[in-house]
Amino acid sequence: MFFKNKKFERKVLLDKSVLDSIVTFCKMKHPNEGILILKGKSKNGQIKIDGLAIPPFNFTGPTFAGFPHSFLPFDNSYIGVVHSHPSGSAEPSVTDLNNFFGLVSLIIQSPYDDDSIFAWDSSGNTIPLSINDENETEKN
Ligand SMILES: [Zn+2]
Repeated sequence: MFFKNKKFERKVLLDKSVLDSIVTFCKMKHPNEGILILKGKSKNGQIKIDGLAIPPFNFTGPTFAGFPHSFLPFDNSYIGVVHSHPSGSAEPSVTDLNNFFGLVSLIIQSPYDDDSIFAWDSSGNTIPLSINDENETEKN
């Protein structure tokens, strides 16, 4: 009976320290988009992000950011990508969805604060995101 209507509650958990690094990186790249690889693990629909990697040969501009996936080393801790939208909303563009990599896509919009970041799946549906702050467990 446990398998009846079994549906995992999808959720993204982002370490506060990782969020801080994303914010710093994207502010530095502004007004161009910034892009980083998310490292972490996924279990029972829960995606935990605890690290970042800089994609090789990445190219960015004011309205695009990407990297050739063929240059990526095989690493199963690579679970997605985060990129910034210097203007406009944090909704994924058609290009973003066509270039979807991994399990989750995080998009952070200007002004790059804790409330500017959203998680999406490959269909462009939002996934609940919570910030994991070890010193402040009550937050969010
Ligand atoms: Zn985008």
